[in-house]
Amino acid sequence: MATNTSNPPGPIVDLHVDTLSWLSRIPYRFDRFHKPWPISYLLRPNHVDLPRLKEAGVRFVWWGIVPNPLVPRPSKGVFKTLRYIHGLVEKHGEDLHLVQSSDDVETCLRLGKIGCVLTIEGGHALEGRLDMLERFREQGVRAMVLVHLTDNDLSPCSRKGRDGELTALGKEAVREMERIGVVVDVAHLPEKGIRQVSEMSRRPFVCSHGAMHSVCPHWRNLSDDSVRRIGDSGGLMGVFFIREWIRPDRKGTIQDAVNQLSRVKEVAGPAVPAIGSDFDGALRLALGIEDVRALPKLAASLSERGWDPETSDDAMGMNAIRFMRRFFREAP
Ligand SMILES: [Zn+2]
Repeated sequence: MATNTSNPPGPIVDLHVDTLSWLSRIPYRFDRFHKPWPISYLLRPNHVDLPRLKEAGVRFVWWGIVPNPLVPRPSKGVFKTLRYIHGLVEKHGEDLHLVQSSDDVETCLRLGKIGCVLTIEGGHALEGRLDMLERFREQGVRAMVLVHLTDNDLSPCSRKGRDGELTALGKEAVREMERIGVVVDVAHLPEKGIRQVSEMSRRPFVCSHGAMHSVCPHWRNLSDDSVRRIGDSGGLMGVFFIREWIRPDRKGTIQDAVNQLSRVKEVAGPAVPAIGSDFDGALRLALGIEDVRALPKLAASLSERGWDPETSDDAMGMNAIRFMRRFFREAP
């Protein structure tokens, strides 16, 4: 559908927000307005709550659930958080809706509810057992980041000066995820691992949150080649707003988020850029992005840089909506 400047801004989708991961342990009223703090503290959310999501016009959030790598049974905490989130979505049923299928995507758009996509950030949640994937899937999980900040039995994580490959179990996990309809998320994977995923995958895969190495050469960021491969699969590259990692002098601003999105578009085409803020996962956000309410401002900054309204709407949400419609429709 064509858009023009007189149309309201399109729906916003954020592919990576960690807020709910902490809420089963930390007192934080998701349904109350919170003032943003200048610096976030680990495990103390403040970037996102329900009133601010509504104010910003966010339509879908991919909620990250972070398994604890230091305990013998990380899945326990994940199931606990999943139960908590299900309770939250039920309690706020007039505003929130769990997204498990393409029908759910349409329901959210029709009723103006915020679609909640449940994702796990770190394959150590599987505890080395692929059957765990199906159990998570039954609890509504629709995407998983293979590895987080520590190496696990699926893969080494990306780290300064080091590359690495998926393990045999990691490759099996990718196949199983594709089989049961869980999106493979390559955020935090080293370059070799991303290449492996692109070579073996049969379905689109994403990087839910990251940035372009060619704009800011940080070890956590992805090469142009990797982002092209994501695009070739029909996937998405979500750009995060981590101040230190989107600009070489570590003083990233909202304009650097625009630079990052522009580079994704240049390298992989207009169907690939997406938003993956890392709200309440990032310690410090780009200047000009205090909290989730900055997302419409980001859309405005894209237009100021000459993005046409349609392409800007695509990056802010429509690319992700098309991806979800497609991916969640195909029967696993
Ligand atoms: Zn992350």
